[in-house]
Amino acid sequence: MRIETKCIQEGYKPENGEARVLPIYQSTTFKYGSCEEMGKLFDLEASGYFYTRLGNPTVGCVEEKIAKLEGGVGAMMTSSGQAASLMSVMTICNAGDHIICSAAVYGGTLNLLGVTLKRMGIETTFVNPDASLEELQSYIRPETKAVFGETIANPALSVLDIEKFAELAHSNNIPLIVDNTFATPILCRPFEFGADIVIHSTSKYMDGHAVSLGGVIVDGGSFDWAASGKFPEFTTPDDSYHGLVYSEAFGNAAFITKARVQLMRDLGSSPSPQNAFLLNLGLETLHLRMRAHSDNAMKVATFLANDSRVAWVNYPGLPDSKYKPLVDKYLPDGTSGVVSFGVKGGREAAIKVLDSLKLAAIVTHVADARTCALHPASTTHRQLTDEQLADGGIGADLIRLSVGIENAADIIEDLDAALSNI
Ligand SMILES: *Cc1c(COP(=O)(O)O)cnc(C)c1O
Repeated sequence: MRIETKCIQEGYKPENGEARVLPIYQSTTFKYGSCEEMGKLFDLEASGYFYTRLGNPTVGCVEEKIAKLEGGVGAMMTSSGQAASLMSVMTICNAGDHIICSAAVYGGTLNLLGVTLKRMGIETTFVNPDASLEELQSYIRPETKAVFGETIANPALSVLDIEKFAELAHSNNIPLIVDNTFATPILCRPFEFGADIVIHSTSKYMDGHAVSLGGVIVDGGSFDWAASGKFPEFTTPDDSYHGLVYSEAFGNAAFITKARVQLMRDLGSSPSPQNAFLLNLGLETLHLRMRAHSDNAMKVATFLANDSRVAWVNYPGLPDSKYKPLVDKYLPDGTSGVVSFGVKGGREAAIKVLDSLKLAAIVTHVADARTCALHPASTTHRQLTDEQLADGGIGADLIRLSVGIENAADIIEDLDAALSNI
C-alpha cells in the first residue's frame, strides 16, 4: 500500500459483521476464562489485552497504523508528546548515562532533558545540529547512550541532517531518536535515513484538529541491542518478568516491548481510547492535510519574503533557505505548515500585527487546520529580556505563524491587512 492508502486502510481491519469504523473500546479491563490464560499474559508468554494502561484494542489499532505509516515494527501511544519523549529516553538510559541532543528542539524537550532528567542523573549535551560529524563525535562519552534530534525543529525550523546524526549514533553503537512531529510520515520517514526510534507529539498535525493530546513512540526494529554491548537492560534478565531477556524474547521489537511492559506499566502515561479514536480520524486525512499545509505555507512564506514591511522570513521550503540541500533530500514533498518571520519595527510592530489579525487566531498551539499566530516575546517568552531572547534565537520581532488549510488567498489577505496597520 502507498502512504495515502495506509492512512485510510492500516490498523483496524474488521471481520464479517463487525463495525466498519474503528470502535471505541471504552473499557479499562478485559475478561478471561481461566487464571492460567490470564497468567500467561502477565508472564508475556501470550499477547492480549487485560488492562487499558498496558494496551487497549482501539489504541492498539491506531498504534498499528502509525507503525505502518513510519515503516516501523511496532508503536506505543502515550498520553502526550512529552510522555513519548520521556519514555523513549528512559527505555534506553539510566542514571549516569548521557545523551547528545540537537539544540534545535522543542522547548519542552529542552526542559525535560536539560532540567528534569538531569535531576534524575541523565545528562544531556546540546549540540549545534549543523556542526560537522567530527565536532559531534567529540561530544561522545563512554556513557553516551542515545542521539536525539527533530526532523523540522519547533520553533527554529531548522532541518536535521538525519543521515549525519545516524552515522554519529551508529559509529558509536547507540541509537538515533528522531522527533518527527512537524514533518509527519507523509513528508519524511526518518527510518529510511537511519533513525532507530521515531517519536511524535500526535497533538499536532497527526490529530490535526486540536482536539486530543497524545504522543507515540515507533520502533524501527533496526537497532541491534545485543550486538551493541552497551545496553545490559536489554540483554540481561528482568526480575520483574521472571528473568525474561528482552533481546532474546522479542528480537527486533525488544525496544518497544520493553517501553510498554516496563515503563508504561510503571509510569502509566496511557492514552484514552476516546483520544485514540479521534487521532485515527485525523490520521485518515493526514496525507491531504500535510500537502495543503505545505502548499499554503509556501505561498504565505513567498508573500512575506516579497513584502517590504517584513524584515526576514524563515521557512525551510523557500528556495534561498540554507537548508535547501537537506530539504531536497529529506522533505521533497513539502516542508510542513509553520513559518516564522520578523516585521520592520520590532516588538511593537509585531504586537500590532498580531492584534490586527482577524482570520488567524492568537494561540500557543501550532499545527492544526486553523491558521494561528504567536508572538513569543510578548507571551510564551515574556519573562526574557530582549538580549536573552536574541541569544535563544527568538528575536523580539519574531512572529510564529502556523499556516492552516483555509484558502491561502484568505490567509495572505489577513496578513496583508494586519501588516498595513504597522
Ligand atoms: C508539542 C511538541 C512536543 C510535546 O508534545 P505534547 O503533546 O504537547 O506533550 C514534542 N515535540 C514537538 C516537536 C512538539 O511540537
